[in-house]
Amino acid sequence: MPPPQKKLKTTHPTADQDQNRGGFKAPAIPLPRLSTLRAAFERERKRVKLSTLPLDVLGEISNHLHPRDLLNLTLTCKRVAQFLLNPHQEYIWRNARLRTPGMPELPSFMNERAFARLLYSRRCNHCGEDNALNVRWTWFARYCSECLPKARYDGKSAYDRYYTSCAYLRDNENLQKLVNVINPSKCNDTFTRQGNYVQRRQLDQFLQEWHATETEEERRELLKQQKRLVRRRVKHAELCQLWSQTTGALERRKANRLAKLDVNVRR
Ligand SMILES: [Zn+2]
Repeated sequence: MPPPQKKLKTTHPTADQDQNRGGFKAPAIPLPRLSTLRAAFERERKRVKLSTLPLDVLGEISNHLHPRDLLNLTLTCKRVAQFLLNPHQEYIWRNARLRTPGMPELPSFMNERAFARLLYSRRCNHCGEDNALNVRWTWFARYCSECLPKARYDGKSAYDRYYTSCAYLRDNENLQKLVNVINPSKCNDTFTRQGNYVQRRQLDQFLQEWHATETEEERRELLKQQKRLVRRRVKHAELCQLWSQTTGALERRKANRLAKLDVNVRR
């Protein structure tokens, strides 16, 4: 049997060939005039870009925005983020908070930017990813599901770490008064049951500061400050939680509605 013949390469018919065969010739699209092109280029050149906006103008615009919009603005480009997250621009965030009805007052142990991020962003305090749904108000932090176990000690580990670190602390001080314990099981004997957690950062930082003290007076002062801080965190966490369930929930619903509307408009 002879081998199969190779197919000859063919090209698509041109419009002229189509016409000869009775096909339709598409009308030629006229090229834009040079003057039109020049005008478009000039318009593009003169367009104001966020990345090149003078900083005083950017500051003036930012000073009229909601904290959520400020956070979104920090995601647009590096230059804008560096400007807005600079401690010198703290006033922009403070004004945004004061303009926002129902927003809790700033806790004394946080700055305005971090507080706005806690309330309005979903950024994980550990990895920085935008999917942190686990808010721990008394820790003033939010974590993604992956980072939450890394950011805490369970009751047993916290107990071991605390009570073996110093004999004085073990014999005289109650850990629950020195760090904020999350106790979802609502049981009082915090460190003998499961479900009680301590923020790793809080405990490590306290122990580090404790070991850095040199005199009895310094230790007394540190204990006093630490207990005050824990009480402040508890008190302010209640305000933030209430805000999250009321005004915050309304604002989230409104933002979601606007986002859906925006998607529909863009379609
Ligand atoms: Zn994370």
